[in-house]
Amino acid sequence: MTDFTKTREMFHLPKGVVYLDGNSLGPLPRAAVARVTRAMQDEWGEMLITGWNRAGWMRLARDVGDRVGRLIGAPAGTVVMGDTLSIKVYQALASALELNPDRRVILSDSGNFPTDLYMAQGLVESLGRGHDLRIVAPDEVAANIGDEVAALMLTEVDYRTGRMHDMAALTARAHAHGVITIWDLAHSAGAIPVDVTAAGADFAVGCTYKYLNGGPGAPAFIYVAPKWAERARPALSGWLGHEAPFAFDPDYRPAPGVERMRVGTPPVLALRALEAALDVWDMVDIADLRAQSIALGELFIAQVERRCPALRLASPRDALQRGSQVSFAFEHGYAAMQALIARGVIGDFRAPDIMRFGFTPLYLSESDVMRAADIIEDVITNNLWDRPEYMTKAEVT
Ligand SMILES: *Cc1c(COP(=O)(O)O)cnc(C)c1O
Repeated sequence: MTDFTKTREMFHLPKGVVYLDGNSLGPLPRAAVARVTRAMQDEWGEMLITGWNRAGWMRLARDVGDRVGRLIGAPAGTVVMGDTLSIKVYQALASALELNPDRRVILSDSGNFPTDLYMAQGLVESLGRGHDLRIVAPDEVAANIGDEVAALMLTEVDYRTGRMHDMAALTARAHAHGVITIWDLAHSAGAIPVDVTAAGADFAVGCTYKYLNGGPGAPAFIYVAPKWAERARPALSGWLGHEAPFAFDPDYRPAPGVERMRVGTPPVLALRALEAALDVWDMVDIADLRAQSIALGELFIAQVERRCPALRLASPRDALQRGSQVSFAFEHGYAAMQALIARGVIGDFRAPDIMRFGFTPLYLSESDVMRAADIIEDVITNNLWDRPEYMTKAEVT
Protein backbone atom coordinates (compact mmCIF):
# COMPACT_ATOMS: atom_id res chain seq x y z
CA MET A 1 0.00 0.00 0.00
CA THR A 2 1.21 3.47 -0.81
CA ASP A 3 1.77 5.57 2.31
CA PHE A 4 0.10 8.86 1.37
CA THR A 5 0.98 10.51 4.69
CA LYS A 6 4.60 9.99 3.70
CA THR A 7 4.18 11.38 0.19
CA ARG A 8 2.38 14.39 1.63
CA GLU A 9 5.41 15.20 3.77
CA MET A 10 7.49 15.36 0.61
CA PHE A 11 5.70 18.50 -0.62
CA HIS A 12 5.75 22.08 0.51
CA LEU A 13 2.27 23.56 0.73
CA PRO A 14 1.73 27.07 2.10
CA LYS A 15 -0.02 27.16 5.48
CA GLY A 16 -3.79 27.37 5.40
CA VAL A 17 -4.09 26.35 1.76
CA VAL A 18 -6.15 23.50 0.33
CA TYR A 19 -4.54 23.04 -3.04
CA LEU A 20 -6.97 21.75 -5.64
CA ASP A 21 -5.01 22.85 -8.69
CA GLY A 22 -2.29 20.22 -8.93
CA ASN A 23 -3.84 19.39 -12.30
CA SER A 24 -2.54 22.73 -13.56
CA LEU A 25 0.69 23.19 -11.59
CA GLY A 26 1.89 20.64 -9.07
CA PRO A 27 3.30 21.98 -5.76
CA LEU A 28 6.97 22.12 -4.85
CA PRO A 29 8.56 18.79 -3.91
CA ARG A 30 10.71 19.71 -0.89
CA ALA A 31 13.73 17.80 -2.20
CA ALA A 32 13.76 19.85 -5.41
CA VAL A 33 15.15 22.89 -3.59
CA ALA A 34 18.34 21.15 -2.49
CA ARG A 35 18.60 19.24 -5.76
CA VAL A 36 18.50 22.35 -7.90
CA THR A 37 20.77 24.25 -5.52
CA ARG A 38 23.29 21.42 -5.70
CA ALA A 39 23.07 21.34 -9.49
CA MET A 40 23.71 25.08 -9.58
CA GLN A 41 26.57 25.13 -7.08
CA ASP A 42 28.35 21.80 -7.61
CA GLU A 43 27.59 21.25 -11.28
CA TRP A 44 27.14 24.58 -13.05
CA GLY A 45 29.26 26.46 -10.51
CA GLU A 46 32.20 24.08 -10.24
CA MET A 47 32.15 22.07 -13.43
CA LEU A 48 31.19 24.78 -15.90
CA ILE A 49 31.09 23.38 -19.44
CA THR A 50 32.50 20.02 -18.34
CA GLY A 51 29.17 19.36 -16.59
CA TRP A 52 27.77 18.14 -19.89
CA ASN A 53 29.99 15.07 -19.54
CA ARG A 54 30.93 14.91 -15.87
CA ALA A 55 27.48 15.55 -14.43
CA GLY A 56 25.69 13.64 -17.18
CA TRP A 57 23.68 16.64 -18.39
CA MET A 58 23.58 15.34 -21.95
CA ARG A 59 22.09 12.01 -20.83
CA LEU A 60 19.40 13.58 -18.67
CA ALA A 61 16.78 13.90 -21.41
CA ARG A 62 16.71 10.15 -21.93
CA ASP A 63 17.37 9.06 -18.32
CA VAL A 64 14.47 11.15 -17.09
CA GLY A 65 12.48 10.01 -20.12
CA ASP A 66 12.86 6.41 -18.95
CA ARG A 67 11.55 7.35 -15.51
CA VAL A 68 8.51 9.09 -16.98
CA GLY A 69 8.13 6.09 -19.29
CA ARG A 70 7.60 3.83 -16.27
CA LEU A 71 4.55 5.90 -15.30
CA ILE A 72 2.93 5.52 -18.72
CA GLY A 73 3.79 1.91 -19.60
CA ALA A 74 6.57 2.82 -22.04
CA PRO A 75 9.68 0.62 -22.20
CA ALA A 76 13.14 2.10 -21.62
CA GLY A 77 14.44 4.01 -24.59
CA THR A 78 11.06 5.06 -26.00
CA VAL A 79 10.52 8.38 -24.17
CA VAL A 80 12.61 11.52 -24.32
CA MET A 81 12.27 14.87 -22.52
CA GLY A 82 12.49 18.38 -23.88
CA ASP A 83 10.81 21.53 -25.12
CA THR A 84 7.17 22.22 -24.35
CA LEU A 85 4.14 20.05 -24.90
CA SER A 86 2.96 22.25 -27.78
CA ILE A 87 6.19 21.49 -29.63
CA LYS A 88 5.96 17.77 -28.92
CA VAL A 89 2.38 17.75 -30.27
CA TYR A 90 3.68 19.35 -33.46
CA GLN A 91 6.47 16.82 -33.87
CA ALA A 92 4.24 13.82 -33.19
CA LEU A 93 1.54 15.00 -35.57
CA ALA A 94 4.01 15.90 -38.31
CA SER A 95 5.61 12.45 -38.01
CA ALA A 96 2.23 10.72 -38.08
CA LEU A 97 1.08 12.58 -41.19
CA GLU A 98 4.27 11.68 -42.97
CA LEU A 99 3.84 8.01 -42.05
CA ASN A 100 0.39 8.12 -43.61
CA PRO A 101 1.18 10.19 -46.72
CA ASP A 102 -1.86 9.34 -48.86
CA ARG A 103 -4.46 10.56 -46.38
CA ARG A 104 -5.51 14.13 -45.61
CA VAL A 105 -7.72 14.12 -42.50
CA ILE A 106 -6.59 14.85 -38.94
CA LEU A 107 -9.35 13.83 -36.53
CA SER A 108 -9.65 15.50 -33.13
CA ASP A 109 -12.40 16.54 -30.75
CA SER A 110 -13.88 19.76 -29.43
CA GLY A 111 -12.70 18.87 -25.92
CA ASN A 112 -9.08 19.00 -26.97
CA PHE A 113 -6.85 21.66 -25.48
CA PRO A 114 -6.65 24.67 -27.80
CA THR A 115 -2.86 24.58 -28.23
CA ASP A 116 -3.07 21.05 -29.64
CA LEU A 117 -5.59 22.28 -32.22
CA TYR A 118 -3.59 25.45 -32.91
CA MET A 119 -0.41 23.46 -33.52
CA ALA A 120 -2.31 21.22 -35.93
CA GLN A 121 -3.67 24.28 -37.77
CA GLY A 122 -0.18 25.76 -38.10
CA LEU A 123 1.26 22.48 -39.32
CA VAL A 124 -1.50 22.09 -41.91
CA GLU A 125 -0.68 25.55 -43.25
CA SER A 126 3.06 24.91 -43.36
CA LEU A 127 2.59 21.61 -45.15
CA GLY A 128 0.27 23.23 -47.70
CA ARG A 129 -0.94 19.82 -48.84
CA GLY A 130 -4.62 20.35 -48.16
CA HIS A 131 -4.92 18.53 -44.86
CA ASP A 132 -8.24 18.92 -43.11
CA LEU A 133 -8.45 19.23 -39.32
CA ARG A 134 -11.80 17.65 -38.49
CA ILE A 135 -13.05 18.48 -34.99
CA VAL A 136 -16.01 16.47 -33.73
CA ALA A 137 -17.80 16.12 -30.40
CA PRO A 138 -15.96 13.80 -27.96
CA ASP A 139 -18.62 11.10 -28.13
CA GLU A 140 -18.57 11.16 -31.94
CA VAL A 141 -14.89 10.40 -32.32
CA ALA A 142 -15.30 6.64 -32.72
CA ALA A 143 -17.93 6.99 -35.43
CA ASN A 144 -15.71 9.38 -37.39
CA ILE A 145 -12.69 7.09 -37.57
CA GLY A 146 -12.53 5.96 -41.19
CA ASP A 147 -10.19 5.04 -44.01
CA GLU A 148 -9.67 8.70 -45.02
CA VAL A 149 -8.21 9.63 -41.64
CA ALA A 150 -4.44 9.93 -41.44
CA ALA A 151 -4.06 10.71 -37.76
CA LEU A 152 -6.25 10.62 -34.66
CA MET A 153 -5.06 13.29 -32.24
CA LEU A 154 -6.75 13.28 -28.83
CA THR A 155 -6.18 14.31 -25.25
CA GLU A 156 -7.11 11.31 -23.14
CA VAL A 157 -8.57 13.32 -20.25
CA ASP A 158 -10.50 16.47 -21.16
CA TYR A 159 -8.84 19.44 -19.47
CA ARG A 160 -12.16 21.16 -18.88
CA THR A 161 -14.50 18.40 -17.73
CA GLY A 162 -12.20 15.52 -16.82
CA ARG A 163 -14.06 13.29 -19.30
CA MET A 164 -11.89 10.31 -20.25
CA HIS A 165 -11.52 8.68 -23.65
CA ASP A 166 -10.99 4.92 -23.90
CA MET A 167 -7.46 4.99 -25.25
CA ALA A 168 -7.19 1.25 -25.95
CA ALA A 169 -10.57 0.97 -27.69
CA LEU A 170 -10.13 4.08 -29.86
CA THR A 171 -6.58 3.08 -30.77
CA ALA A 172 -7.73 -0.39 -31.79
CA ARG A 173 -10.48 1.11 -33.91
CA ALA A 174 -8.04 3.58 -35.44
CA HIS A 175 -5.60 0.82 -36.31
CA ALA A 176 -8.35 -1.24 -37.93
CA HIS A 177 -8.72 1.70 -40.34
CA GLY A 178 -5.01 2.32 -40.81
CA VAL A 179 -5.07 5.49 -38.69
CA ILE A 180 -2.04 6.57 -36.64
CA THR A 181 -2.77 7.79 -33.10
CA ILE A 182 -1.33 10.65 -31.07
CA TRP A 183 -2.37 10.69 -27.42
CA ASP A 184 -1.88 13.75 -25.27
CA LEU A 185 -1.38 12.59 -21.68
CA ALA A 186 -1.20 16.06 -20.07
CA HIS A 187 -4.00 15.15 -17.64
CA SER A 188 -3.19 11.44 -17.49
CA ALA A 189 0.46 11.03 -16.52
CA GLY A 190 0.55 10.88 -12.72
CA ALA A 191 -3.24 11.11 -12.55
CA ILE A 192 -4.53 7.73 -13.73
CA PRO A 193 -3.00 4.39 -14.75
CA VAL A 194 -1.67 4.69 -18.30
CA ASP A 195 -0.24 1.92 -20.46
CA VAL A 196 0.74 3.17 -23.91
CA THR A 197 2.15 -0.25 -24.78
CA ALA A 198 -0.99 -2.20 -23.91
CA ALA A 199 -3.15 0.42 -25.64
CA GLY A 200 -0.95 0.27 -28.74
CA ALA A 201 -0.56 4.06 -28.91
CA ASP A 202 1.66 5.18 -31.79
CA PHE A 203 2.74 8.51 -30.30
CA ALA A 204 2.13 9.96 -26.86
CA VAL A 205 3.07 13.34 -25.46
CA GLY A 206 2.60 15.15 -22.18
CA CYS A 207 3.84 17.78 -19.79
CA THR A 208 5.47 17.31 -16.40
CA TYR A 209 4.40 20.43 -14.50
CA LYS A 210 0.84 19.22 -13.81
CA TYR A 211 0.39 15.92 -11.93
CA LEU A 212 4.10 15.09 -12.10
CA ASN A 213 5.03 18.21 -10.09
CA GLY A 214 8.13 19.17 -12.11
CA GLY A 215 7.62 22.92 -11.61
CA PRO A 216 6.55 25.84 -13.80
CA GLY A 217 7.83 25.37 -17.34
CA ALA A 218 9.14 21.83 -16.67
CA PRO A 219 10.01 20.01 -19.91
CA ALA A 220 7.55 17.92 -21.92
CA PHE A 221 7.90 14.28 -22.92
CA ILE A 222 7.32 12.36 -26.11
CA TYR A 223 6.85 8.62 -26.62
CA VAL A 224 7.27 6.97 -30.00
CA ALA A 225 6.13 3.35 -30.35
CA PRO A 226 9.07 1.04 -31.17
CA LYS A 227 7.50 0.11 -34.51
CA TRP A 228 7.82 3.74 -35.70
CA ALA A 229 10.97 4.77 -33.89
CA GLU A 230 13.33 4.24 -36.81
CA ARG A 231 10.92 5.66 -39.40
CA ALA A 232 9.44 8.74 -37.74
CA ARG A 233 10.82 12.03 -38.99
CA PRO A 234 10.77 14.58 -36.17
CA ALA A 235 9.90 17.64 -38.33
CA LEU A 236 11.97 19.90 -36.08
CA SER A 237 15.34 18.46 -36.97
CA GLY A 238 17.58 20.06 -34.38
CA TRP A 239 21.19 19.20 -33.75
CA LEU A 240 20.57 17.24 -30.56
CA GLY A 241 18.29 14.90 -32.50
CA HIS A 242 21.13 14.31 -34.95
CA GLU A 243 22.88 10.95 -35.08
CA ALA A 244 26.18 12.63 -34.18
CA PRO A 245 25.65 16.20 -32.88
CA PHE A 246 29.34 16.75 -32.26
CA ALA A 247 30.37 15.71 -35.76
CA PHE A 248 28.95 19.12 -36.79
CA ASP A 249 27.99 17.64 -40.12
CA PRO A 250 26.11 20.16 -42.29
CA ASP A 251 23.58 17.47 -43.25
CA TYR A 252 20.91 16.21 -40.88
CA ARG A 253 20.76 12.51 -40.12
CA PRO A 254 18.25 11.43 -37.46
CA ALA A 255 19.52 9.78 -34.28
CA PRO A 256 18.45 6.18 -33.74
CA GLY A 257 15.11 5.75 -31.99
CA VAL A 258 13.24 8.32 -29.94
CA GLU A 259 16.31 10.53 -29.42
CA ARG A 260 15.66 12.01 -32.85
CA MET A 261 12.76 13.87 -31.22
CA ARG A 262 15.21 15.99 -29.24
CA VAL A 263 15.61 19.45 -30.71
CA GLY A 264 18.08 21.74 -28.92
CA THR A 265 19.94 22.12 -25.64
CA PRO A 266 18.05 20.47 -22.75
CA PRO A 267 16.85 22.51 -19.71
CA VAL A 268 19.26 20.97 -17.21
CA LEU A 269 18.11 22.80 -14.08
CA ALA A 270 14.48 22.03 -14.82
CA LEU A 271 15.37 18.38 -15.37
CA ARG A 272 17.11 18.29 -11.98
CA ALA A 273 13.94 19.64 -10.33
CA LEU A 274 11.91 17.07 -12.22
CA GLU A 275 14.18 14.26 -11.03
CA ALA A 276 13.42 15.23 -7.44
CA ALA A 277 9.70 15.28 -8.27
CA LEU A 278 9.91 11.82 -9.82
CA ASP A 279 11.57 10.39 -6.68
CA VAL A 280 8.16 10.72 -4.99
CA TRP A 281 6.68 8.38 -7.59
CA ASP A 282 9.11 5.62 -6.61
CA MET A 283 6.96 5.23 -3.46
CA VAL A 284 3.62 5.19 -5.26
CA ASP A 285 1.50 2.35 -6.58
CA ILE A 286 -0.56 3.95 -9.32
CA ALA A 287 -3.54 1.66 -8.58
CA ASP A 288 -3.60 2.97 -4.98
CA LEU A 289 -3.34 6.50 -6.32
CA ARG A 290 -6.30 5.99 -8.64
CA ALA A 291 -8.44 4.44 -5.89
CA GLN A 292 -7.69 7.34 -3.56
CA SER A 293 -8.24 9.94 -6.29
CA ILE A 294 -11.68 8.44 -6.96
CA ALA A 295 -12.49 8.41 -3.24
CA LEU A 296 -11.56 12.10 -2.90
CA GLY A 297 -13.49 13.08 -6.05
CA GLU A 298 -16.61 11.17 -4.97
CA LEU A 299 -16.52 12.75 -1.52
CA PHE A 300 -16.16 16.21 -3.06
CA ILE A 301 -19.04 15.74 -5.49
CA ALA A 302 -21.34 14.41 -2.77
CA GLN A 303 -20.53 17.28 -0.42
CA VAL A 304 -20.75 20.08 -2.98
CA GLU A 305 -23.96 18.81 -4.56
CA ARG A 306 -25.65 18.47 -1.19
CA ARG A 307 -24.57 21.89 0.06
CA CYS A 308 -24.56 23.99 -3.11
CA PRO A 309 -27.43 23.21 -5.48
CA ALA A 310 -26.47 26.28 -7.57
CA LEU A 311 -23.39 24.44 -8.80
CA ARG A 312 -23.96 21.96 -11.61
CA LEU A 313 -21.63 18.99 -12.04
CA ALA A 314 -19.83 19.35 -15.39
CA SER A 315 -17.73 16.20 -15.07
CA PRO A 316 -18.94 12.65 -15.74
CA ARG A 317 -20.77 11.33 -12.70
CA ASP A 318 -19.28 7.88 -13.22
CA ALA A 319 -15.82 7.94 -11.63
CA LEU A 320 -14.55 5.43 -14.19
CA GLN A 321 -15.28 7.95 -16.97
CA ARG A 322 -13.46 10.73 -15.16
CA GLY A 323 -9.80 11.65 -14.77
CA SER A 324 -8.46 13.10 -11.52
CA GLN A 325 -10.42 16.34 -11.53
CA VAL A 326 -13.97 17.49 -10.87
CA SER A 327 -15.58 20.46 -12.56
CA PHE A 328 -18.68 22.39 -11.65
CA ALA A 329 -20.44 24.89 -13.89
CA PHE A 330 -21.58 28.11 -12.22
CA GLU A 331 -22.61 31.34 -13.90
CA HIS A 332 -20.40 33.41 -11.60
CA GLY A 333 -17.63 30.81 -11.63
CA TYR A 334 -14.77 33.23 -12.14
CA ALA A 335 -15.70 35.49 -9.23
CA ALA A 336 -16.54 32.49 -7.05
CA MET A 337 -13.12 30.98 -7.73
CA GLN A 338 -11.40 34.25 -6.80
CA ALA A 339 -13.39 34.31 -3.56
CA LEU A 340 -12.30 30.73 -2.84
CA ILE A 341 -8.67 31.48 -3.57
CA ALA A 342 -8.84 34.47 -1.21
CA ARG A 343 -9.94 31.97 1.47
CA GLY A 344 -7.18 29.47 0.75
CA VAL A 345 -9.05 27.02 -1.47
CA ILE A 346 -7.14 27.08 -4.73
CA GLY A 347 -8.73 25.71 -7.89
CA ASP A 348 -9.03 27.42 -11.24
CA PHE A 349 -11.52 28.69 -13.79
CA ARG A 350 -11.96 27.72 -17.42
CA ALA A 351 -14.16 29.83 -19.66
CA PRO A 352 -17.05 30.14 -20.03
CA ASP A 353 -18.28 29.00 -16.60
CA ILE A 354 -16.24 26.06 -15.32
CA MET A 355 -14.83 25.89 -11.78
CA ARG A 356 -12.17 23.21 -11.86
CA PHE A 357 -10.79 21.24 -8.92
CA GLY A 358 -7.97 18.71 -9.11
CA PHE A 359 -7.65 15.73 -6.74
CA THR A 360 -4.11 14.67 -6.07
CA PRO A 361 -3.75 12.02 -3.34
CA LEU A 362 0.02 12.58 -3.06
CA TYR A 363 -0.69 15.61 -0.89
CA LEU A 364 -4.49 15.82 -0.38
CA SER A 365 -6.61 14.02 2.18
CA GLU A 366 -10.30 13.63 3.04
CA SER A 367 -10.03 16.37 5.66
CA ASP A 368 -8.76 18.80 2.99
CA VAL A 369 -11.77 17.95 0.85
CA MET A 370 -14.13 18.57 3.78
CA ARG A 371 -12.48 21.90 4.53
CA ALA A 372 -12.78 22.92 0.89
CA ALA A 373 -16.46 21.92 0.90
CA ASP A 374 -17.10 24.06 4.02
CA ILE A 375 -15.54 27.10 2.37
CA ILE A 376 -17.27 26.55 -0.97
CA GLU A 377 -20.61 26.30 0.83
CA ASP A 378 -19.93 29.56 2.66
CA VAL A 379 -18.91 31.39 -0.52
CA ILE A 380 -21.82 30.14 -2.61
CA THR A 381 -24.72 30.21 -0.16
CA ASN A 382 -23.75 33.63 1.21
CA ASN A 383 -22.86 35.10 -2.21
CA LEU A 384 -19.43 36.06 -0.90
CA TRP A 385 -18.16 36.12 -4.50
CA ASP A 386 -20.32 39.17 -5.31
CA ARG A 387 -17.65 41.80 -4.85
CA PRO A 388 -15.95 43.98 -7.46
CA GLU A 389 -12.43 42.77 -6.60
CA TYR A 390 -13.39 39.21 -7.61
CA MET A 391 -14.72 40.28 -11.01
CA THR A 392 -11.56 41.61 -12.72
CA LYS A 393 -9.97 38.91 -14.84
CA ALA A 394 -6.24 38.29 -14.31
CA GLU A 395 -3.93 37.28 -17.16
CA VAL A 396 -3.93 33.64 -16.01
CA THR A 397 -7.27 32.28 -14.87
C1 LIG B 1 -1.53 21.81 -20.26
C2 LIG B 1 -1.73 21.35 -21.65
C3 LIG B 1 -0.94 21.83 -22.71
C4 LIG B 1 0.08 22.90 -22.48
O1 LIG B 1 1.06 22.93 -23.46
P1 LIG B 1 2.43 23.70 -23.17
O2 LIG B 1 3.14 23.70 -24.46
O3 LIG B 1 3.13 22.96 -22.08
O4 LIG B 1 2.09 25.08 -22.71
C5 LIG B 1 -1.14 21.28 -23.96
N1 LIG B 1 -2.08 20.34 -24.18
C6 LIG B 1 -2.87 19.88 -23.19
C7 LIG B 1 -3.89 18.83 -23.48
C8 LIG B 1 -2.74 20.39 -21.90
O5 LIG B 1 -3.54 19.96 -20.93
